[in-house]
Amino acid sequence: MLAVCLNNGMVSVRDQHRPRRPDGFALIRLLCGGICNTDLELKRGYYGFRGTPGHEFVGEVIAADDSHWIGQRVVGEINLACGHCEWCERGLGRHCPRRTVLGIMEHPGAFREFLTLPLGNLHRVPREIPTEHAVFVEPLAAACEILNQVRIPTRAPVAVLGDGKLGLLIGQVLKAHGAEVHQYGHHKDKLRLAASFDIEVRAGKKPPVAAYDWVVDATGSSDGLTQAVKMTRPRGTIIMKSTVHGLVKIDSAPVIVNEITLVGSRCGRFEPALKLLRGGRVRVDNLISEALPLQQAPLAFRLAAQPGAMKVLLNG
Ligand SMILES: [Zn+2]
Ligand SMILES: [Zn+2]
Repeated sequence: MLAVCLNNGMVSVRDQHRPRRPDGFALIRLLCGGICNTDLELKRGYYGFRGTPGHEFVGEVIAADDSHWIGQRVVGEINLACGHCEWCERGLGRHCPRRTVLGIMEHPGAFREFLTLPLGNLHRVPREIPTEHAVFVEPLAAACEILNQVRIPTRAPVAVLGDGKLGLLIGQVLKAHGAEVHQYGHHKDKLRLAASFDIEVRAGKKPPVAAYDWVVDATGSSDGLTQAVKMTRPRGTIIMKSTVHGLVKIDSAPVIVNEITLVGSRCGRFEPALKLLRGGRVRVDNLISEALPLQQAPLAFRLAAQPGAMKVLLNG
């Protein structure tokens, strides 16, 4: 089978044996994968990664202990948890200290013709959701995680900083929740997209100071947090969605003086994301910039790294 491999900043496609299916796991044929910024960072060698990346995918179950799964179109949660530690028992396998992570940490990823994941990680994709939309479930779940962590009142004004792929998903999720979303960004075409989702956009001009009780930093840049602190009202909350490699410098004085709550936020449960896509309450069709076959992964990675690129898909 074909498998994408990252090694020393190079992307290659190799011929490999099909993975063996451990008990309790499904063997899944890749239908579609999505390249995200984390994959680009793994390519650059962050986290010392080498091997097959890919954690955003839709596939078809080929083999499983339970035959009901066979032939099902699925998406899969990416954390493989131990199942019996304190965190797992609390239903927080995403924080299991013994977890491996699909395509990121010690479990080969989805950018290959066949992959394996525990059955417990899988979710059937409802027929109404096309494969190239379902591939957004993982990043959309990360956007939904915000509402799992903080209680944002409906109609509350929320500033979403950043108009990239994740920022545009977050804007839509908070809008669907009933918040009054103001999307801040620098890319005209992306803000136009946000506006087409009926989101109020704020471009170019200086962001207002101490204006919001809720600010989401999805800029992906190391200045995002400083900007967010400036924009937050006393006793307000900042949700941190930018994973920046390296240190982020921040003046802690305004955080302390204004008693601002900082909330780190990572991945989330898939159910709310599937529900939003199924109900058409979040749109992802305009977030795709290219779809290429798995064999063209080197080109796909180059395109995904271009400034302003949206989601690049790899078809299995
Ligand atoms: Zn990702
Ligand atoms: Zn565990």
